[in-house]
Amino acid sequence: MGRYLGPQCRLCRTEKTKLMLKGDRCKSDKCPIAKRKGAPGKGPRARMRKISDYGIQLREKQKLKRIYGMLEKQFKIFFEKAERMKGITGENLLCLLERRLDNIIYRMHFASSRKQARQIVLHGHVYINKRKVNIPSYIVKENDEIEIKENSKKLIMIKESLKEFSRAGVSQWLEVDPDKLYGKVKALPRRGDILDMADIREQLIVELYSK
Ligand code: SF4
Repeated sequence: MGRYLGPQCRLCRTEKTKLMLKGDRCKSDKCPIAKRKGAPGKGPRARMRKISDYGIQLREKQKLKRIYGMLEKQFKIFFEKAERMKGITGENLLCLLERRLDNIIYRMHFASSRKQARQIVLHGHVYINKRKVNIPSYIVKENDEIEIKENSKKLIMIKESLKEFSRAGVSQWLEVDPDKLYGKVKALPRRGDILDMADIREQLIVELYSK
């Protein structure tokens, strides 16, 4: 199955929550979720239908998959990796997803959304430890140094995205020099560092895959 190419807001309306799929643009008051629009194509009766435990677990997984723009197969690979790690599987999963290179580029404000970050990586604009890496799912390590390619530093979309850096700053496990378009992974993220995922109940995803 291919990547979803339809309207992003539709996915949020299906999950009935702000998934921030358009990144910084989601902060505008045009967001349909902020305007309390319901699930697409469903009448009020369907919206009120009680969903099963399985349905709740499935929705939680779909939410996380959509936030990070992943397909089922790759998401499952991340889950299996999280299972093999020491510690709590659900927390490991979230921390691994945070370490994806496309997410890092978004978190460092070199892109205004994870989708845009994915394009920036795929088009070869990103170097890690002085070597080009064009794999959006690449998992960064502690002390990795990330830099935008010299010729790409003039790109308008990157400059525009960086405006958010002065407004929102950067997660404490990351370091960014906005003038040099350089960043560093100071430490690996912990569950508590992923503040905008506070509502995600990762344990439900573990229960779903354990069936
Ligand atoms: Fe659309 Fe963003 Fe609002 Fe989701 S959070 S509905 S992508 S504007």
